[in-house]
Amino acid sequence: MVAREMARRGMRVLILEQGNAAPLRGTLGQMAAIAAIPGRGAFFGADGSLLVRGITAGGSSAINFATAMAPPLPLFARYGVDLQAPLRALQRELPMAPLPDALIGPMATRIMQAARAAGHDWQKLDKMIYPDKCRSGCWRCVYGCPFGAKWTARNLLDDALADGAELLPGATATRVISDAQRAVGVEFLHDRRLQQVRAGLVVLAGGGIGSPRLLQASGLARGNARHFSDPVIAVMGSVDDIDGGAEVPMAAGMHLAQDGVMLSDLTLPRPMYQAFAAQAGRLDRLLAHRRTLTIMVKIRDALGGRIGARWVSKALQPQDRDKFAQGVALARAILAQAGARHVFASRHFAAHPGGSVRIGEGVDANLQTALANLYVCDASVIPEAWGLPPTLTLLCLGMRLAEHVCPAQTAAGRPQPVLRIASVKRLQATG
Ligand SMILES: Cc1cc2nc3c(=O)[nH]c(=O)nc-3n(C[C@H](O)[C@H](O)[C@H](O)COP(=O)(O)OP(=O)(O)OC[C@H]3O[C@@H](n4cnc5c(N)ncnc54)[C@H](O)[C@@H]3O)c2cc1C
Repeated sequence: MVAREMARRGMRVLILEQGNAAPLRGTLGQMAAIAAIPGRGAFFGADGSLLVRGITAGGSSAINFATAMAPPLPLFARYGVDLQAPLRALQRELPMAPLPDALIGPMATRIMQAARAAGHDWQKLDKMIYPDKCRSGCWRCVYGCPFGAKWTARNLLDDALADGAELLPGATATRVISDAQRAVGVEFLHDRRLQQVRAGLVVLAGGGIGSPRLLQASGLARGNARHFSDPVIAVMGSVDDIDGGAEVPMAAGMHLAQDGVMLSDLTLPRPMYQAFAAQAGRLDRLLAHRRTLTIMVKIRDALGGRIGARWVSKALQPQDRDKFAQGVALARAILAQAGARHVFASRHFAAHPGGSVRIGEGVDANLQTALANLYVCDASVIPEAWGLPPTLTLLCLGMRLAEHVCPAQTAAGRPQPVLRIASVKRLQATG
């Protein structure tokens, strides 16, 4: 978002991306290369948990579930961050609505009916999906939609490139270069060669794991990086009268904001279901994918853990376990209401690393670090424990940051300054 907005304002922007930019094919193999390589996209905890992130152009959005949830405006207001204007602009620009009934699968429908029958406020969720390009009976959202039906940050990259930004895939930023308390560029590894690019403005957008690592490697942060991950448990049970397993996940759900617990349907492709069943020791359920209803229980976990140069660790804390107990009990009751049997739960896994460079601690309200001209704009700046789909919030923060470093009304109508910006994902090189 920052790159797109900067390029639109006539800035010269270079985007360094560690992953590749191959077109999304919607295959298990491509998804695994993006998010399942240990130590790169996937991190395994000592307790058997899993944390994933997407290493590819567009980041985790390429493989996410496309659920949009508005940022909690009062939370950000407490930190001096007003996201109302970017939120309004993005609501006009992006697809963000519940799916039409024809695109909601039979499993999500059954779960929604059961939850409502049990008295829950279970509503369709807003999806960042273009309904006219989406198809029923499809399972590819999570593998990376090859039909262009799911919005991803690649859409913004395309806009940025059309406005003159440059993308360098396969380029891993290794540290920020500074001089007299100012960021002056970035060192990066590309084609096995360590290179440098000078830039007047650097925006780190490496995500909740990547950005704190870069700050640590640049001597700008200590190595503890407490964070959240919004862990999830999948609760699964089989019914006899549905033959499915291929549908958009998270079509509907409920959010217990006070409790920090969110539930939704979560029909995943067969190999992912089987991995969860196997990990839970339920080999007897391996062949039941087409009949198994899955409910996702996501919690707002407390800040904790550590992020090192090659590893990430985060154990559940007692209050996290209490939230899971509450959410899993609700999910089991809804599955019982739906007529499901053989109910079992996965171990916890997580896909929202963030809060590791928090506003008010690692960056100020303008997302600037202690170093002049060095900003961070991704899930790491979220200031508190979270528990929500973060994408829309991050887009709002990106739009606001672009406006801060280069206000649109200043940029318009006069010769463009050659402002130089560099970032992990979005970087403007010197000429
Ligand atoms: C399976 C899954 C389902 C999800 N479902 C949803 C959902 O329904 N709704 C929602 O809102 N959110 C969802 N999320 C979460 C959401 O996609 C992420 O929180 C969001 O994309 C994070 O954005 P980010 O910019 O912080 O980091 P990322 O999207 O992780 O982007 C970071 C980028 O930086 C690159 N990078 C990192 N380090 C370096 C480096 N040193 N040099 C160069 N490049 C680097 C990475 O390759 C990546 O492209 C889901 C995530 C996953 C994995």
